[in-house]
Amino acid sequence: MGLDPTRTVAELKELRALTGDANGSQRVAWTGTWLKAREWFADKLDGLPVEHHPDAAGNNWVTLAGESEKALLIGGHLDSVPNGGWLDGCLNVLAGLEVLRRIADQYRGRPPVTIRLVDWADEEGARFGRSLLGSSAFAGTHSIAADRARTDREGIRLEDALGRCGVSIDRFPEAAAEQKHAAAYIELHIEQGPVLETLGLPLGVVLGTKGVERHAIAFHGQEAHSGSTPMNARKDALAAAAKLVLEIRPIARRHPDAVCTMGSLKTFPGIVTAVVGRCEATLDQRDLDAAVLAQMFREAREASYRFAAEERCTVEWSRIWSIEPIAFHPELLDLCEAAIREVAGTSHRLPSGPLHDAAEVSRAGIPTVMMFVQSLGGISHNKIEDTREEHLELSVAAFDRLADKAMSWIGRQPLPHGRGSD
Ligand SMILES: [Zn+2]
Repeated sequence: MGLDPTRTVAELKELRALTGDANGSQRVAWTGTWLKAREWFADKLDGLPVEHHPDAAGNNWVTLAGESEKALLIGGHLDSVPNGGWLDGCLNVLAGLEVLRRIADQYRGRPPVTIRLVDWADEEGARFGRSLLGSSAFAGTHSIAADRARTDREGIRLEDALGRCGVSIDRFPEAAAEQKHAAAYIELHIEQGPVLETLGLPLGVVLGTKGVERHAIAFHGQEAHSGSTPMNARKDALAAAAKLVLEIRPIARRHPDAVCTMGSLKTFPGIVTAVVGRCEATLDQRDLDAAVLAQMFREAREASYRFAAEERCTVEWSRIWSIEPIAFHPELLDLCEAAIREVAGTSHRLPSGPLHDAAEVSRAGIPTVMMFVQSLGGISHNKIEDTREEHLELSVAAFDRLADKAMSWIGRQPLPHGRGSD
């Protein structure tokens, strides 16, 4: 019984029917529907020669023991956003399952290296606003204190919701024990953007995840009567902010993959008869290159001071959140490219704008790479999210080749430092 990518597509549809409704997928982490998806997945493991357990952060691990303890990790997430698509996260898990079946069969249950499939808990952060929860616990980058008291819309605390699923936030750091013997990590994901479709390509090699600078910017001017204040006497905070909204576009466009977004502007007092005295804005900047990201941040800041001065206002910046760019492993990038070329003839390298669990795994020092499959219309986190079935099948075939190449690559590596010996 060899690899059967059509089975992956059939199982994706089965999961959609089980955990979706007219508005899309409803597998929000730490809910009954999510647990139902996980039970369904556990049933799929019947008859496979694997060990299966959840770790201290609620990540589910399926292990096919090999001749060597050195392990190839394959990851994904069954959780979705509310009203989500049918592919985001679960394609990765189900493609991984198909690869695991093929390997178990080919090596009669004992491959040369250990294969571990992980279903990360709460990748999306849809309910409590904390993305990559399970994978960051695994990576040891998670700070418990900051998240314990987060609440959902109903006021239920993160700590309590996890407790109902048998996960204690106090034991989160223990999830890092799963790093033992991890030698490489691979993840397949839908692109969730338009690049591959625009190029007419089914599959791409992901270079890494972009770093993010996210800031709150407040312009201060002077509230004044819209009728009595002459144009040259105004301190219009919105005018200064508006100039910045336009300026971040050339700042981003100087770099091929950079993006800058001002997604929120609030004006005070925000009435039709007053000059804006205060304007609160947000800025989100992303690039794969830390130097580019730092430069864009500097340029946006300098521009904001210039525009504030031009409008006789002042400006204040405060960082909301940031993360450094994560570059995936150069040798695994080459393996991923070779795997894609074997099944699709041609490949393309692109960075990921969205963050993924793979970024956390890479931060833990485990050699990592991701493969993208084309998304139709670049739409995701929405029920209309879709990928052509022939592309889904190609992605499973290419991912299987990548798993093979990664296994051979692991066989050639010494035991990873700090994750070896006993
Ligand atoms: Zn995802």
